[in-house]
Amino acid sequence: MPLLRSPAARSRLGALLRAGRLGPLALLALLALALWGGRALYLEREQRYHHVIEGGLLAINQLQTRSVANWRQRRLGEAEALSEDAVLGLAVARWREAPTPEREARLRDRLRGLVEYMQYADAYLLDTQGRLLLAPQGRAVGELAPAQQQTLALALARGQAVADGLRRDESFAFPHYGLLAPLFDGVQAVGAVWLVLDARSTLYPLLEAWPGGSRTTAESLLVQRQGDEVLFLSPLREDDDAALVRRLPLDAASDAAVLAVRGARGALYSSDYRGRQVLATASGVPASDWLLLSKIDRAEAFADARQGDWLSLTVFVSAALLLLGSLVLLWQWRAWRRERILKERLQRNMRWLESAQRAASLGYFAYDPAQRRFFMSGMANAIFGQPEHARMTLKEWMALLHPQDRQHILQVHGQAMSERSALRLQYRICPAGGLPLRWVEVYGEFGQAHDRAPSCMTGTIQDITERRQVEEQLERYRAALEAQVRIDPLTRLANRLALDEHVAQEWARALRSGAPLALLMLDVDYFKAFNDHYGHGAGDRCLQSVAQALAAGVQRAGDMVARYGGEEFAVLLPGIDEYEALAVAERLRLAVRALAIEHAPTVSADAIVTISIGVASVSAPAMAAAQQGQPEGRDAAQVLFQRADAALYCAKRLGRDRSVVHSPQCDTLLHDAPDSLRAGL
Ligand code: GH3
Ligand code: MG
Ligand code: MG
Repeated sequence: MPLLRSPAARSRLGALLRAGRLGPLALLALLALALWGGRALYLEREQRYHHVIEGGLLAINQLQTRSVANWRQRRLGEAEALSEDAVLGLAVARWREAPTPEREARLRDRLRGLVEYMQYADAYLLDTQGRLLLAPQGRAVGELAPAQQQTLALALARGQAVADGLRRDESFAFPHYGLLAPLFDGVQAVGAVWLVLDARSTLYPLLEAWPGGSRTTAESLLVQRQGDEVLFLSPLREDDDAALVRRLPLDAASDAAVLAVRGARGALYSSDYRGRQVLATASGVPASDWLLLSKIDRAEAFADARQGDWLSLTVFVSAALLLLGSLVLLWQWRAWRRERILKERLQRNMRWLESAQRAASLGYFAYDPAQRRFFMSGMANAIFGQPEHARMTLKEWMALLHPQDRQHILQVHGQAMSERSALRLQYRICPAGGLPLRWVEVYGEFGQAHDRAPSCMTGTIQDITERRQVEEQLERYRAALEAQVRIDPLTRLANRLALDEHVAQEWARALRSGAPLALLMLDVDYFKAFNDHYGHGAGDRCLQSVAQALAAGVQRAGDMVARYGGEEFAVLLPGIDEYEALAVAERLRLAVRALAIEHAPTVSADAIVTISIGVASVSAPAMAAAQQGQPEGRDAAQVLFQRADAALYCAKRLGRDRSVVHSPQCDTLLHDAPDSLRAGL
């Protein structure tokens, strides 16, 4: 097996065998081999049968030929014996000289003896001229026919018996075989005996000795050439009267009798007088011009062989069919087993997939745009509240979308479908059957759902309701924390961080718009003394009241009141100049006074809590231009804080409970102030 020497070739063949692709080829090769073998066997067997049949026919022919020759020889011998019988010759001579009744009776007895004991149909005593003298019954009248006269003359001339051959004439009503035996008295011929044999009972039965009985088409014929014709000497199976009557012209070349007469010997495959296909063989009968033709219809001759062939063929075909059937069954069984294994694997994988889908609340789908229909896995259908094997139409799916999300979803879907792009989407659905609202996440892309389908969108759909709820919760926490970070816990006002971010934001806006930005810095007067006098708790409550009053006094969008630190507050007022800001500051100062929180240790006459306010307002672009080269934002805005701080310092220095707008003097004043004072602001 040089082809399979390499391991690669062997493994390829193994793979093909395992895949079952070589099965049909092997089967065909096996069948072709079986057919070829069967044909060779059939031909060999046919040849053998022909040989056997031909041999058998030849043997029968030779046997019958010998038998006919013997019969002729025997009959001639009997006639010879009569010729040599000197007593008979003398008796005839005496009877001819003196024909007494006793002598005649003895001669008649002799003739009767020939008929009765030797099977002759008739026996006559003749004179040398061929005239009939005596028959077994008595005197006979008549003479031999001219042809027989010639035979008699020949016999007399030879001095021995001569066969006259087969004849059919008016003398006898049957085909007869005559023999002429001359009689001598020791000196000369005194007459002759004419022996007549009935061919029907003596000769023809010799031709009927065939194995196989009378139903067979086998027959033997005696034929003889007569001029340009073949004369049938014996009756034919299908024509009893054919003997010495029926003839065939010699130019009937396909006839077996004609072929035989023309010298053909051995097995002859030809036709017969009936036009049937026959197998024939012929032999010449020794010491005669007779031919013995033995023939049998080919159909019969080879019937046994054919029957045997049919039997063999039937056995062969049955075996082949059995083999074929077994192979087909084996093949089918293998295919069935493979399919069963694959099915089991598929079912197992499907079970895994199903449980994985359930665990992940994840299903898969395919959307066929041509049919506008979804194919969904059991889990996907469960997410939508559909029966396990439902196939939703586009309309049914749309009806399940949350009304607020529907437009957006359809737009994204439509875009993905038209651009054949991937789909990533989270949306809400209202599942069928009154199930609670769900969030789903869909991943889809274009591809072939199966071989024959046009492009479909396939993907996964996951129930993310719980995830979304957790995310929303976290978002709320995050937002709350975010807010907490920017709120002062005591006063619930914005803290320093929120103020800084807001200032940066408003500063940027002011830079773009060119509008002024004002800032108030507020500080509770003598608050240390308040704390000392009323306690820290009271101090806290005081701060809360002040904060509420400040928050209530500032309501414009964009304004922000923040606790700047300790008992210090800041109010950012975008879009107003210092004079408008001063008005707001005064309003706030009075609002705090209006709280009338008792403050015994204060120096003011009313003995209530008061605040001092520093007011500053700047034009952000102007400030930025002035500080060119320096970073913008918080640093530039810092000036606003410094100015408001300086103004607050002024307000404190001028006696507290008042609002002071920033001026360069404030800066000078603050600059000259001792550090202890500046730190107190
Ligand atoms: P001035 O009029 O000059 O501002 O005098 P002042 O006493 O207010 O000055 P100072 O800045 O020296 O005192 C501020 C005091 O505010 C000191 C501190 O005890 C008090 N304080 C700061 N934060 C809080 C707070 O959150 N709660 C309470 N109860 N007191 C606070
Ligand atoms: Mg103070
Ligand atoms: Mg202070």
